[in-house]
Amino acid sequence: MDAIGVLDLQGGVLEHIGHLERLGIKVRTVKEATDFENLAGLIIPGGESTCISKLMRIFGLEQALQAAFRSGMKIWGTCAGAILLATEVTGEEAFLKLIDMEVMRNGFGSQLDSFTYEATIPSVASVPLPLTFIRAPKILRVGVGVKVLLEGEGYVAAAETENILVTVFHPELTGCLAFHRYFAEKCGLMASRREIPVDPAWDRTSWTRLARLS
Ligand code: GLN
Repeated sequence: MDAIGVLDLQGGVLEHIGHLERLGIKVRTVKEATDFENLAGLIIPGGESTCISKLMRIFGLEQALQAAFRSGMKIWGTCAGAILLATEVTGEEAFLKLIDMEVMRNGFGSQLDSFTYEATIPSVASVPLPLTFIRAPKILRVGVGVKVLLEGEGYVAAAETENILVTVFHPELTGCLAFHRYFAEKCGLMASRREIPVDPAWDRTSWTRLARLS
């Protein structure tokens, strides 16, 4: 139980792996049912939720994920990953139904309505963090027992329970490691709450290069 897995079917897989490696966290890709064994945590990346859910069904990963979750594996869903974890998806059938919340896909509009801003999320870091929303969903409602970490006007952008973290934005596409450190701690993999600064050398295209910036 010393590694975090990244669901490797579609979407922003390499970018999450890069951030975990920058923190010195052991990381494994998850493509098959047996890959869920002994994971402390799993990241379901952003991408296209319909595509990821179909591939999970085709490869028979749904039950294995649910079983690993019941055995204590924590899960972080970013964007499409958050959609897949919700109990309710506006106008569509929900998929994994592991966190009590309603999400509306593409809640901010089309790809062209994607945006970035900075906000302080006290539970995660004391400094403002860069947030990147790409055809993001809106979390419209969270259930009792789900803690809101960041709210916007009329929507929730980040929330958690003891075992699940959801963000509708993409920390892996910024030079900021704070969310990955926060999730690693949730998985019991990092002891220190030391602040990790935003990488000043990061720019809008950094994530497209596969450089390992350790
Ligand atoms: N719009 C995508 C969906 O509905 C999510 C986008 C993303 O993950 N950046 O699945």
